[in-house]
Amino acid sequence: MDFEAVIGLEVHAELATQSKMFCACPVVDTTQTAPNSAVCQVCSGMPGTLPVLNQKAVEYGLRVALALDCQIAPFSIFARKNYFYPDLPKGYQISQYEQPLARIGRMTIVTSQGEKVIRIRRVHLEEDTGKLTHVGRNGQAYTLVDLNRAGVPLLEIVTEPDFRSAEEVRAYAEALRAILRYLGVNSGDMQKGVLRIEPNISLRPVVAAGFKPALLGTRVEVKNLNSFRALERAVAYQIQRQAELLEAGKVVQQVTLGWDEAKEVTVVQRVKESEDDYRYFPEPDLPPLAVEAGWVAQIRTSLPELPYARLQRLREQYDLSDYTAKLLVAEKSIADYFEQAVTAEPSVPAKSIANWISGELFGLMNQAGVDAAGLRVRPAALAGLVKLVSQGQINQDTARKVLAEMFASGEGAEEIVKKRGLGQVSDAGAIAQLVKDVLAEYPNEAAAYLSGKAGVANFLFGQVMKKAQGKANPQIVRRELELQLAEIKAD
Ligand code: ADP
Ligand code: ZN
Ligand code: MG
Repeated sequence: MDFEAVIGLEVHAELATQSKMFCACPVVDTTQTAPNSAVCQVCSGMPGTLPVLNQKAVEYGLRVALALDCQIAPFSIFARKNYFYPDLPKGYQISQYEQPLARIGRMTIVTSQGEKVIRIRRVHLEEDTGKLTHVGRNGQAYTLVDLNRAGVPLLEIVTEPDFRSAEEVRAYAEALRAILRYLGVNSGDMQKGVLRIEPNISLRPVVAAGFKPALLGTRVEVKNLNSFRALERAVAYQIQRQAELLEAGKVVQQVTLGWDEAKEVTVVQRVKESEDDYRYFPEPDLPPLAVEAGWVAQIRTSLPELPYARLQRLREQYDLSDYTAKLLVAEKSIADYFEQAVTAEPSVPAKSIANWISGELFGLMNQAGVDAAGLRVRPAALAGLVKLVSQGQINQDTARKVLAEMFASGEGAEEIVKKRGLGQVSDAGAIAQLVKDVLAEYPNEAAAYLSGKAGVANFLFGQVMKKAQGKANPQIVRRELELQLAEIKAD
């Protein structure tokens, strides 16, 4: 029997607000800050304290919900999700349950199979928990609690079970990260845990081609994946394992799993709890959240052009390949850089600028570990370099060297070319002289060419370029070579 994978995703994204969700404590980089230094009575769960909602967190949540084409609820309700854990000092997490901030959205993903729309089920606000560090020292085992992260605003984004492969899951996660970064609500710094992904995976039989059963198989959930690689591997691993179980006539048990990064296997954390276990009830310390239509409209108009729309526009407006456009829009700062460069030199083909960015410039940036913010080559300077190439003032090889120098020093292309005397020689008279010298130096090769050995032309061409230290305009060299060889023949 054939099985198809059915996958739904829950993503937790920390919102990069200045202060926490329900108190005035700052949101800090927990990897860089002394433990428990950004904590107050509210976020440490002291009795008698009251939460106050952070408006910026709601705004950020709305930005994401609108970017995902969701319907915004005019009223939403905060709820208590009750459970005990040492990283949760109140004994409950304030979340949203029956009435989330937003529902029913969509996102288009692009994979090797083409485009596909993934339905978004819900987007809701909640608060993050603290962080536990398990220590084993001197034969003792204990756990340290850091509450700096407790109460940091979190947005949970849940999809319908619309994915059918690990590739689709990865494409969605990457696209969602890009959207969050475009919106400026999350750094996308996955090693720091600001974006955690939880795939739910099941298999179901494919009954016949074209016929899709409506029922879903039993799913497992993998918790807290914080890299695309781990996500893709964990999903692929589960699809494989469940297929083996089902083919052997066994059943899948509904469990919550973790991912063992080193062994590349999933491990059971707990048998799936049900929603009843949390005893959700409306948070009595917060009123319903009313979101005014005017505010929503204002946020909607303030949204930047999003990656997918920009991909399509760049592709069409500048006649870029899918591949190049995708590379450029992955980071908003790079897409901006490209368009600034194009604006700076409208006479230069945008396609050439795009190719120089996605090829040579990306190569230099990767090598040096520099991102767009740290880049010393200004957009106009890059456009200036590409202009010199397209005008034939320098050739590709020279341009590469010049760019490397621009990258290191921040100098402009023209300055470097002048200073180093790298300008391409297009002066036909000078080139004619070089060709003449080479033909005089290699009479045998010239004769061989004239007797029909066409391949020798490349050798002669190489010699001329060598004499010109690579700076001669290659088209003129070839033309001049042909001309002078024809003259010798006529003699
Ligand atoms: P929770 O996991 O918190 O109980 P849900 O039941 O709403 O929440 O499901 C969470 C995610 O699991 C959603 O993305 C949903 O699409 C997905 N999901 C639900 N059932 C299945 C299934 N049988 N197979 C794969 N994914 C599923
Ligand atoms: Zn606090
Ligand atoms: Mg879940």
